[in-house]
Amino acid sequence: MYNIVLFGPPGAGKGTQSEKLIAKYGLTHLSTGDLFRKHLGEGTQLGELAKKYMNEGRLVPDEVVIGMVEEKIAATEDTKGFIFDGFPRTTAQAKALDFMLEKHEMEISGMIALDVPENVLKERIKERGKTSGRVDDQDEGKINTRIKVYLDETLPVAEYYEKQGKFTKINGVGSIEGIFEDIAQVIDSY
Ligand code: AMP
Repeated sequence: MYNIVLFGPPGAGKGTQSEKLIAKYGLTHLSTGDLFRKHLGEGTQLGELAKKYMNEGRLVPDEVVIGMVEEKIAATEDTKGFIFDGFPRTTAQAKALDFMLEKHEMEISGMIALDVPENVLKERIKERGKTSGRVDDQDEGKINTRIKVYLDETLPVAEYYEKQGKFTKINGVGSIEGIFEDIAQVIDSY
């Protein structure tokens, strides 16, 4: 069983690589951004709550995110493991994730961080915005806020896993296939 945290700033390629990893390893994708967008689309109470934070590019409060992830883990049966995409984004979320997994007799195998320079991120997000329909992908100010929030609040999560000897950084610039091979090599070493 592999439980992988795929880490990196917005636009790093986490979603793209997650799809390929699911196909290769049969893992369950747990993207908190996707789950929130699903709630938004369905007009649930949780979606309403998350909406203003998402539209501003800010983080949804920890207790809301953690509750949603807990529900998803509990509802998933017979999995070969999870790819956590866009979660954890704060150290409090990382601690809560360890606690949740322990309850289900699982643990994080490792964090794989995609390293992409800021100018490339901005270009990729703007390009995605042309087709994603995401309001947070189409506004320069919101893109900048998301990158700032990543640097201020999310980057410390890498240190959390580094201290546990579970951190690997991968160059996230290059061909999708080449980056995927680098990630697969790390997973195969777990
Ligand atoms: P993403 O698709 O991962 O870029 O997430 C889109 C937006 O959803 C973020 O900008 C946040 O507003 C919210 N979000 C997603 N995941 C989290 C998380 N783990 N913690 C807090 N907010 C989140």
